[in-house]
Amino acid sequence: MYKIKHKIKHKRLNKNIATLATGLLLFGVSIMPAMATEGNNMTQQIQTKDFGTLDDGRKVTQYLLENKLGTQVSIINLGAVISELHTIDKKGNFADIVLGFDNPQQYLDDSPYFGAVVGRYGNRIANGKFSLDGKNYQLDTNNDKNHLHGGIVGFDKRLWQAKINQTKDDTQSLTLSLLSKDGDQGYPGTLTVSVTYTLTADNLLTIDYQATTDKTTVINLTQHSYFNLAGHNSGDILNHQLQLNAKQFIPTDRTAIPTGELAEVANTAFDFSQIKTIGRDINSDEQQLIFGKGYDHNWVLNPRNKPLSQAAMKVVEPRSGRTLTIYTDQPGVQFYSGNFLDGTIIGKNKAVYHHRNGFCLETQHFPDSPNQAHFPSTRLTPEETYTSSTIFSFGVQ
Ligand code: BGC
Repeated sequence: MYKIKHKIKHKRLNKNIATLATGLLLFGVSIMPAMATEGNNMTQQIQTKDFGTLDDGRKVTQYLLENKLGTQVSIINLGAVISELHTIDKKGNFADIVLGFDNPQQYLDDSPYFGAVVGRYGNRIANGKFSLDGKNYQLDTNNDKNHLHGGIVGFDKRLWQAKINQTKDDTQSLTLSLLSKDGDQGYPGTLTVSVTYTLTADNLLTIDYQATTDKTTVINLTQHSYFNLAGHNSGDILNHQLQLNAKQFIPTDRTAIPTGELAEVANTAFDFSQIKTIGRDINSDEQQLIFGKGYDHNWVLNPRNKPLSQAAMKVVEPRSGRTLTIYTDQPGVQFYSGNFLDGTIIGKNKAVYHHRNGFCLETQHFPDSPNQAHFPSTRLTPEETYTSSTIFSFGVQ
């Protein structure tokens, strides 16, 4: 058992990017060094715009991060959601590659966590129960008998406080913060949380999380974007090719709670150690795929908790040539193949999101860790600072 890394400091972008070269080479992706030039002028300011009003009258603001390659990342202060993400394809055309809504109220009413930062605890805690230092806690249960993604009013449904950071070198950066009070959704401790999104000149979107608490608690933050690298309204994602740097995954029971076993992926549909299409084995009759109605599992990243030195996963969409390579210091990733999308959600520009029209790669600690002593610990004490970093690298091939 080991604790959440807390030695990584908030302002560490240069270091993160410097460590990327190895990983990018591993997957045959080449980028220019991100922070090669020092002392350039300040970059253009992040543009802000009104994103509309919630039914209760609260206003939502959208922040646009962009770089000279034309990549645009829109973030709203509701749920710290990535609401749009425009990247180039191999023919030079741009598309918005994340599912989402035009109307902010839909993020509260209709959203299966599109684009959001989920917390306090990404994924499930069995029966919403856990104990810390001999004290039992009962969380909200919002997924049958289990607790999912932080509860009924998780961080995805909060208005965050936004702050535009001063940057240089064609880098744009936005920090969103919130305060979650002692007892929020049943969790102990007042938690002060921030997430910083940084877009660099060469198409890295870095996500740095930080949190502190005044009482011992548990925490597991993640980013819940649904990607479709062909464009958010382009049909299913089954032709996307995926590689996961993982030898094991975490089987679950029928309610998606880990059994506690770390199972080898070899010779199963869960083996993405060599790149293959998401659709290749998704309909095979393995029990775990039947339980998840497709992929909805956590893979054990290899090597565990190595800070960002090696690409943890890569996705390629062959028609557009768009690629997404992900680096993380987290021990796991929940790969969810959009199994519960069923055509009832109407998204941006009236797009209808059907079965498996998007996928999520949620870098995180393992589900139900507070109840599984042999999983990496998600405990956070008042003496510690929680940090976690993930980098999305957008490319073409
Ligand atoms: C979970 C799925 C869930 C989805 C949307 C994923 O992180 O693993 O089971 O349906 O989020 O809530």
